[in-house]
Amino acid sequence: MMVVTLKRCYSDVDGICGEAAALCCNSSNPQKSLAIARGNGHLSVMEHSAFTFLVEGVSRALLAQLTRHRIASFSVQSQRYIDMSSKCAYVVPPNIKSLRPSAESEFMYQMGMIHGWYKNWQDELLAAGHTQGEANEDARFVLPNATATSLMVTMNARELMHFFELRCCNRAQWEIRQMAWLMLEQCKIVAPELFKDAGPACFRGPCPEGKMTCGNPPKKE
Ligand SMILES: Cc1cc2nc3c(=O)[nH]c(=O)nc-3n(C[C@H](O)[C@H](O)[C@H](O)COP(=O)(O)OP(=O)(O)OC[C@H]3O[C@@H](n4cnc5c(N)ncnc54)[C@H](O)[C@@H]3O)c2cc1C
Repeated sequence: MMVVTLKRCYSDVDGICGEAAALCCNSSNPQKSLAIARGNGHLSVMEHSAFTFLVEGVSRALLAQLTRHRIASFSVQSQRYIDMSSKCAYVVPPNIKSLRPSAESEFMYQMGMIHGWYKNWQDELLAAGHTQGEANEDARFVLPNATATSLMVTMNARELMHFFELRCCNRAQWEIRQMAWLMLEQCKIVAPELFKDAGPACFRGPCPEGKMTCGNPPKKE
Protein backbone atom coordinates (compact mmCIF):
# COMPACT_ATOMS: atom_id res chain seq x y z
CA MET A 1 0.00 0.00 0.00
CA MET A 2 1.27 3.46 -0.88
CA VAL A 3 2.25 5.56 2.15
CA VAL A 4 3.48 9.15 1.72
CA THR A 5 4.89 10.94 4.76
CA LEU A 6 6.21 14.48 4.91
CA LYS A 7 9.29 13.83 7.07
CA ARG A 8 10.83 17.31 7.27
CA CYS A 9 10.40 20.89 6.20
CA TYR A 10 11.29 24.24 7.76
CA SER A 11 9.08 25.08 10.71
CA ASP A 12 7.73 28.26 9.07
CA VAL A 13 8.03 27.82 5.31
CA ASP A 14 5.43 30.47 4.46
CA GLY A 15 7.32 32.86 6.75
CA ILE A 16 10.82 32.40 5.31
CA CYS A 17 9.62 32.64 1.68
CA GLY A 18 7.57 35.72 2.68
CA GLU A 19 10.64 37.31 4.28
CA ALA A 20 12.59 36.70 1.08
CA ALA A 21 9.85 38.37 -0.95
CA ALA A 22 9.61 41.30 1.50
CA LEU A 23 13.36 41.84 1.38
CA CYS A 24 13.23 42.24 -2.41
CA CYS A 25 10.88 45.22 -2.22
CA ASN A 26 11.76 46.56 1.24
CA SER A 27 8.30 45.72 2.52
CA SER A 28 7.25 45.14 6.12
CA ASN A 29 4.51 42.72 5.10
CA PRO A 30 5.98 39.29 4.21
CA GLN A 31 2.61 37.64 3.53
CA LYS A 32 1.50 40.36 1.10
CA SER A 33 4.94 40.45 -0.54
CA LEU A 34 4.82 36.69 -1.09
CA ALA A 35 1.39 36.95 -2.72
CA ILE A 36 2.60 39.79 -5.00
CA ALA A 37 5.82 37.97 -5.91
CA ARG A 38 3.86 34.85 -6.85
CA GLY A 39 1.32 36.83 -8.83
CA ASN A 40 4.17 38.44 -10.79
CA GLY A 41 5.78 35.08 -11.49
CA HIS A 42 8.75 36.02 -9.28
CA LEU A 43 8.87 32.40 -8.10
CA SER A 44 12.47 32.16 -6.95
CA VAL A 45 11.38 33.34 -3.48
CA MET A 46 9.69 29.92 -3.14
CA GLU A 47 13.05 28.19 -3.38
CA HIS A 48 13.93 29.07 0.25
CA SER A 49 12.25 25.88 1.36
CA ALA A 50 12.78 22.14 1.31
CA PHE A 51 10.23 19.38 1.74
CA THR A 52 11.42 15.81 2.32
CA PHE A 53 8.95 12.98 1.79
CA LEU A 54 9.25 9.31 2.58
CA VAL A 55 7.32 7.34 -0.04
CA GLU A 56 6.69 3.66 0.58
CA GLY A 57 4.96 0.92 -1.37
CA VAL A 58 5.16 2.42 -4.84
CA SER A 59 6.14 0.67 -8.06
CA ARG A 60 9.35 0.96 -10.04
CA ALA A 61 7.04 2.23 -12.83
CA LEU A 62 6.27 5.24 -10.62
CA LEU A 63 9.97 5.66 -9.81
CA ALA A 64 10.85 5.97 -13.51
CA GLN A 65 8.35 8.84 -13.87
CA LEU A 66 9.22 10.58 -10.62
CA THR A 67 12.94 10.72 -11.33
CA ARG A 68 12.27 12.64 -14.57
CA HIS A 69 11.83 15.64 -12.26
CA ARG A 70 15.35 16.98 -12.25
CA ILE A 71 15.05 19.74 -9.65
CA ALA A 72 14.61 17.17 -6.90
CA SER A 73 16.86 14.93 -4.79
CA PHE A 74 16.25 11.20 -4.48
CA SER A 75 17.38 8.25 -2.37
CA VAL A 76 15.93 4.92 -3.47
CA GLN A 77 16.03 1.43 -1.99
CA SER A 78 18.82 -0.41 -3.83
CA GLN A 79 18.19 -3.63 -5.74
CA ARG A 80 21.97 -4.26 -5.63
CA TYR A 81 22.57 -4.04 -1.89
CA ILE A 82 19.22 -5.57 -1.02
CA ASP A 83 18.61 -9.23 -1.75
CA MET A 84 15.11 -9.13 -3.27
CA SER A 85 14.59 -12.88 -2.88
CA SER A 86 13.27 -12.41 0.65
CA LYS A 87 11.44 -9.08 0.42
CA CYS A 88 9.79 -8.59 -2.94
CA ALA A 89 6.39 -6.89 -2.88
CA TYR A 90 4.33 -5.78 -5.89
CA VAL A 91 1.90 -3.02 -6.79
CA VAL A 92 -1.25 -4.34 -8.50
CA PRO A 93 -2.98 -1.70 -10.68
CA PRO A 94 -6.58 -1.12 -9.46
CA ASN A 95 -7.94 -1.52 -13.02
CA ILE A 96 -6.43 -5.01 -13.18
CA LYS A 97 -7.85 -5.84 -9.73
CA SER A 98 -11.32 -4.82 -10.83
CA LEU A 99 -11.33 -6.85 -14.06
CA ARG A 100 -12.68 -9.94 -12.30
CA PRO A 101 -12.54 -11.50 -8.80
CA SER A 102 -9.59 -13.72 -9.68
CA ALA A 103 -7.54 -11.00 -11.43
CA GLU A 104 -5.43 -9.99 -8.42
CA SER A 105 -4.44 -13.56 -7.57
CA GLU A 106 -3.64 -14.24 -11.26
CA PHE A 107 -1.41 -11.16 -11.27
CA MET A 108 0.29 -12.25 -8.03
CA TYR A 109 0.78 -15.73 -9.47
CA GLN A 110 2.65 -14.16 -12.40
CA MET A 111 4.76 -12.13 -9.96
CA GLY A 112 5.54 -15.35 -8.11
CA MET A 113 6.79 -16.94 -11.37
CA ILE A 114 9.06 -13.96 -12.01
CA HIS A 115 10.29 -14.10 -8.43
CA GLY A 116 11.22 -17.75 -9.02
CA TRP A 117 13.23 -16.78 -12.10
CA TYR A 118 14.97 -14.08 -10.03
CA LYS A 119 15.97 -16.64 -7.40
CA ASN A 120 17.15 -19.11 -10.05
CA TRP A 121 19.47 -16.58 -11.67
CA GLN A 122 20.73 -15.46 -8.27
CA ASP A 123 21.52 -19.06 -7.24
CA GLU A 124 23.25 -19.81 -10.55
CA LEU A 125 25.35 -16.66 -10.34
CA LEU A 126 26.37 -17.42 -6.75
CA ALA A 127 27.22 -21.02 -7.72
CA ALA A 128 29.39 -19.65 -10.54
CA GLY A 129 31.46 -17.76 -7.95
CA HIS A 130 29.94 -14.30 -8.20
CA THR A 131 29.45 -12.22 -5.05
CA GLN A 132 26.00 -11.70 -3.51
CA GLY A 133 26.04 -8.09 -4.77
CA GLU A 134 26.87 -9.18 -8.31
CA ALA A 135 24.17 -11.88 -8.20
CA ASN A 136 21.59 -9.34 -6.96
CA GLU A 137 22.48 -6.77 -9.57
CA ASP A 138 22.15 -9.18 -12.50
CA ALA A 139 19.19 -11.26 -11.27
CA ARG A 140 17.16 -8.04 -10.85
CA PHE A 141 17.03 -7.63 -14.62
CA VAL A 142 14.01 -9.97 -14.66
CA LEU A 143 12.09 -8.01 -12.00
CA PRO A 144 8.98 -6.23 -13.30
CA ASN A 145 7.83 -2.59 -13.20
CA ALA A 146 5.31 -3.68 -10.55
CA THR A 147 8.10 -4.34 -8.01
CA ALA A 148 7.48 -2.18 -4.95
CA THR A 149 10.10 0.21 -3.68
CA SER A 150 10.64 2.92 -1.06
CA LEU A 151 12.31 6.25 -1.56
CA MET A 152 12.97 9.68 -0.14
CA VAL A 153 12.42 12.73 -2.28
CA THR A 154 13.21 16.35 -1.48
CA MET A 155 11.88 19.28 -3.49
CA ASN A 156 11.59 23.00 -2.87
CA ALA A 157 8.20 24.72 -3.06
CA ARG A 158 8.78 26.07 -6.57
CA GLU A 159 9.52 22.61 -7.92
CA LEU A 160 6.62 21.15 -5.94
CA MET A 161 4.21 23.65 -7.54
CA HIS A 162 5.47 22.55 -10.96
CA PHE A 163 5.30 18.88 -9.97
CA PHE A 164 1.70 19.26 -8.73
CA GLU A 165 0.76 21.08 -11.95
CA LEU A 166 1.86 18.08 -14.03
CA ARG A 167 1.16 15.17 -11.74
CA CYS A 168 -2.10 16.15 -10.00
CA CYS A 169 -3.55 16.50 -13.50
CA ASN A 170 -6.06 13.86 -14.59
CA ARG A 171 -3.79 13.21 -17.57
CA ALA A 172 -1.01 11.95 -15.26
CA GLN A 173 -0.71 8.21 -14.67
CA TRP A 174 -2.86 7.02 -11.73
CA GLU A 175 -0.11 6.00 -9.33
CA ILE A 176 2.05 9.13 -9.53
CA ARG A 177 -1.18 11.20 -9.49
CA GLN A 178 -2.24 9.53 -6.25
CA MET A 179 1.19 10.22 -4.78
CA ALA A 180 1.13 13.88 -5.90
CA TRP A 181 -2.26 14.49 -4.25
CA LEU A 182 -1.05 12.89 -1.00
CA MET A 183 2.01 15.15 -1.05
CA LEU A 184 -0.08 18.24 -1.78
CA GLU A 185 -2.45 17.47 1.08
CA GLN A 186 0.49 17.52 3.52
CA CYS A 187 2.12 20.60 1.98
CA LYS A 188 -1.11 22.56 2.41
CA ILE A 189 -1.07 21.83 6.15
CA VAL A 190 2.47 23.12 6.78
CA ALA A 191 2.52 25.93 4.20
CA PRO A 192 -1.06 27.03 3.45
CA GLU A 193 0.02 30.33 1.90
CA LEU A 194 2.60 28.87 -0.49
CA PHE A 195 0.33 26.09 -1.68
CA LYS A 196 -2.95 28.03 -1.60
CA ASP A 197 -3.70 27.51 -5.30
CA ALA A 198 -1.43 24.50 -5.89
CA GLY A 199 -2.71 21.58 -7.93
CA PRO A 200 -3.18 20.79 -11.61
CA ALA A 201 -2.59 23.63 -14.08
CA CYS A 202 -6.36 24.06 -14.54
CA PHE A 203 -6.62 25.35 -10.94
CA ARG A 204 -4.93 28.57 -12.05
CA GLY A 205 -5.83 28.95 -15.71
CA PRO A 206 -6.98 27.19 -18.84
CA CYS A 207 -6.03 23.53 -19.32
CA PRO A 208 -2.72 23.33 -21.21
CA GLU A 209 -3.45 19.83 -22.54
CA GLY A 210 -5.33 21.01 -25.64
CA LYS A 211 -7.05 18.13 -27.46
CA MET A 212 -5.84 15.74 -24.77
CA THR A 213 -7.77 17.59 -22.03
CA CYS A 214 -9.75 15.37 -19.66
CA GLY A 215 -12.66 17.82 -19.90
CA ASN A 216 -13.46 17.03 -16.28
CA PRO A 217 -11.05 18.98 -14.05
CA PRO A 218 -10.82 18.03 -10.35
CA LYS A 219 -12.57 20.37 -7.90
CA LYS A 220 -10.33 22.61 -5.78
CA GLU A 221 -11.86 21.49 -2.51
C1 LIG B 1 0.92 13.41 -18.66
C2 LIG B 1 2.39 13.21 -18.89
C3 LIG B 1 2.83 12.42 -19.93
C4 LIG B 1 4.20 12.23 -20.16
N1 LIG B 1 4.60 11.43 -21.21
C5 LIG B 1 5.92 11.26 -21.45
C6 LIG B 1 6.38 10.45 -22.55
O1 LIG B 1 5.59 9.89 -23.31
N2 LIG B 1 7.71 10.31 -22.74
C7 LIG B 1 8.64 10.94 -21.94
O2 LIG B 1 9.84 10.78 -22.17
N3 LIG B 1 8.24 11.69 -20.89
C8 LIG B 1 6.92 11.88 -20.63
N4 LIG B 1 6.53 12.66 -19.57
C9 LIG B 1 7.56 13.27 -18.72
C10 LIG B 1 7.80 14.74 -19.09
O3 LIG B 1 8.24 14.86 -20.43
C11 LIG B 1 8.86 15.38 -18.18
O4 LIG B 1 10.10 14.72 -18.33
C12 LIG B 1 8.47 15.31 -16.70
O5 LIG B 1 7.12 15.64 -16.52
C13 LIG B 1 9.35 16.27 -15.92
O6 LIG B 1 8.94 17.59 -16.25
P1 LIG B 1 9.95 18.81 -16.29
O7 LIG B 1 11.10 18.54 -17.19
O8 LIG B 1 9.14 20.03 -16.59
O9 LIG B 1 10.35 18.87 -14.77
P2 LIG B 1 11.73 19.09 -14.00
O10 LIG B 1 12.80 18.19 -14.49
O11 LIG B 1 11.34 18.98 -12.58
O12 LIG B 1 12.16 20.55 -14.35
C14 LIG B 1 11.43 21.67 -13.85
C15 LIG B 1 11.61 22.80 -14.82
O13 LIG B 1 12.97 23.23 -14.78
C16 LIG B 1 13.38 23.62 -16.10
N5 LIG B 1 14.48 22.73 -16.52
C17 LIG B 1 14.91 21.61 -15.90
N6 LIG B 1 15.97 21.08 -16.55
C18 LIG B 1 16.18 21.88 -17.62
C19 LIG B 1 17.12 21.84 -18.68
N7 LIG B 1 18.03 20.90 -18.80
N8 LIG B 1 17.07 22.82 -19.59
C20 LIG B 1 16.15 23.81 -19.52
N9 LIG B 1 15.22 23.89 -18.54
C21 LIG B 1 15.24 22.94 -17.60
C22 LIG B 1 12.16 23.48 -17.00
O14 LIG B 1 11.49 24.73 -17.04
C23 LIG B 1 11.32 22.46 -16.28
O15 LIG B 1 9.93 22.54 -16.59
C24 LIG B 1 5.17 12.85 -19.32
C25 LIG B 1 4.72 13.65 -18.26
C26 LIG B 1 3.36 13.84 -18.04
C27 LIG B 1 2.92 14.70 -16.88
